[in-house]
Amino acid sequence: MAVADKGAVAGYSPRSVVLLGPPGSGKGTQAEILARDLGVPAISTGDMLREAVEEGSELGRKVEGIMATGDLVDDATMARVVRERLAKPDAAAGFLLDGYPRTVPQAEVLEEILGGHPQAVILVDVPEEELVRRALGRQRADDTEEVIRERLRVYGNKTAPLVGYYRDRGLLRTVDGHRSIPEVSTAITRVLRG
Ligand code: AMP
Repeated sequence: MAVADKGAVAGYSPRSVVLLGPPGSGKGTQAEILARDLGVPAISTGDMLREAVEEGSELGRKVEGIMATGDLVDDATMARVVRERLAKPDAAAGFLLDGYPRTVPQAEVLEEILGGHPQAVILVDVPEEELVRRALGRQRADDTEEVIRERLRVYGNKTAPLVGYYRDRGLLRTVDGHRSIPEVSTAITRVLRG
């Protein structure tokens, strides 16, 4: 597709964009929409791990138990997964990361892989009460309320510190995620184009 055909984001070429946000913020949906509009892959570590579990690969067998609890897979395993994925040819021209990094050590690994900071970090911000409401509404068959609450707790403890980490480095852009899907997409696009 020609750059001029990319509609709302014509002329904007992302290199490395990180989407940050709590479970239920809609960042996965936004990553897919933006990837299509920008013509770069959306790399979702959650999707990659779920595929590995489905395939029953060595990685899948290793992460299955921890994923079922709502806690995070260890940073060393995730570093391997992301390093391999970003080395694939389709990521060479640019990519959106959905679900990585999720800890400060993971952010440091990403910097090492990229040889610098990501170009932009978009925080999809949604109030906590709304997150619980959304999470219970979209509950996957294998998710109990307990697992959903654990995911939110893990986000608060381990991932939320990335907000300050990226803000301190001047990379954080916050978008109000408490709106319709197209409104949030438009806001992200606007922020990316600066
Ligand atoms: P997600 O679909 O992004 O919510 O990811 C689903 C699950 O995969 C999470 O609850 C974690 O157990 C695991 N996971 C995905 N990405 C990461 C990551 N960057 N670090 C650690 N665990 C992850």
